[in-house]
Amino acid sequence: MFATLSDRLADTFKHLRGKGKLSEADIDATAREIRIALLEADVALPVVKEFVAAVKERARGEEVSGALNPAQQVVKIVNEELVTILGGETRRLRYAKTGPTVIMLAGLQGAGKTTLAAKLALWLKDQDKTPVLVAADLQRPNAVQQLQVNGERVGVPVFAPAPGNGVGDPVAVAREAIEHAKRTLHDVVIIDTAGRLGVDAELMKQAADIRDAVQPDEVLFVVDAMIGQDAVTTAQLFLDGVGYDGVVLTKLDGDARGGAALSIASITGKPVMFASAGEKMTDFDLFHPDRMASRILDMGDMLTLIEQAEKSFDEAESRKAAEKLLETGDFTLDDFLKQMQQIRKLGSMSKIMGMLPGMGQFRDQLENFDEREIDRIQAIIQSMTPAERDNPKIIDGSRRARIAKGSGRQVSDVNQLVDRFFEAKKMMKSMMGGGGVPGMPAIPG
Ligand code: GDP
Repeated sequence: MFATLSDRLADTFKHLRGKGKLSEADIDATAREIRIALLEADVALPVVKEFVAAVKERARGEEVSGALNPAQQVVKIVNEELVTILGGETRRLRYAKTGPTVIMLAGLQGAGKTTLAAKLALWLKDQDKTPVLVAADLQRPNAVQQLQVNGERVGVPVFAPAPGNGVGDPVAVAREAIEHAKRTLHDVVIIDTAGRLGVDAELMKQAADIRDAVQPDEVLFVVDAMIGQDAVTTAQLFLDGVGYDGVVLTKLDGDARGGAALSIASITGKPVMFASAGEKMTDFDLFHPDRMASRILDMGDMLTLIEQAEKSFDEAESRKAAEKLLETGDFTLDDFLKQMQQIRKLGSMSKIMGMLPGMGQFRDQLENFDEREIDRIQAIIQSMTPAERDNPKIIDGSRRARIAKGSGRQVSDVNQLVDRFFEAKKMMKSMMGGGGVPGMPAIPG
């Protein structure tokens, strides 16, 4: 996500390192580099101009004198300006005070609207809401069915016109859906509307008719972040034609000049509220301008990581493992496996690592990280007997051969895992015992 932009900005900051004071020429050169980086990332020209002017002015100003060195100051300024163009504060969903909250989705065909409807429904379910999806896209042949499939995947019911009812009237469907939601006590109604390949008047009118008929609490414009400047143009056209309260960016997992998406909030004056970055139903979250800026500047996104950890970690399980370790100073391959499975729940390894600060430089390795490696380790451990997991010392040559066969791996893989385990254990022991690993403070108590 925005990898090229990240790299370019990192290079720019590198040039400032070690400078005691920024000369006018330094600031000009930096501004020029930032300008190129943003333009290359496809950020819209007016946004780039404003951005660079602000950075320049602030870098020249008195700000550059505090506790930070000039390079750090520039990073700080760029960070804050990025947050500003991304919309500033996180904009949260507004729920209706009475009756069901109505959310209407609008956007071009292929923007990822139908997928997004289901992702949003799942996200709402996680917030203890009881959403219902509404298939008001009656134009595309498979749209209703596709929404039903997606709804099923996330366990959310879909309200759709009965099959065989002709073309159907999307406005009527949307209206009926809200009555249905009231009767069946669903508290959020997500209306998926028709998209076209291009913007046309009829499409706009249909969306506007639905909007007028149901008076949604939120109209969200869904846009594919990978279509470059067209995203900005389409956003503007929909704003004039239908109007909306917030933007949802999809396909942020592709890097292809996603910078256009960075311009949308600035150009339309509407906040980006959600972002979708992958094909999995859980690849979706609120959009936080500050966290996105941090990610772009490779300052990490610890907050998201922590939130995900809180969501998926089995606290009792973790505490038990920690207590056992503290008490006995020992841990077994079973504990090792459990910890690994907990981490696994957070998502792919490259995704987790990517959220840590300073990982930008390892991007290539991360992208090439073979996620199946963890499955392989798991398979090896699961091919061991309980006694072996409890006390790996007993794993001799013939046991290793048996484990390798059982897990479909090579004996060398088993050796490597067992070696690694003993290494890790030795390290834990010396930390617990206060013996101290070189360069690492001992844990007190
Ligand atoms: P709609 O026409 O707007 O309803 O779009 P769909 O929901 O059918 O999505 C179009 C295509 O984009 C599908 O193949 C989706 O799997 C894919 N897609 C949707 N969201 C994402 C995303 O965040 N990342 C990626 N990589 N693909 C996505």
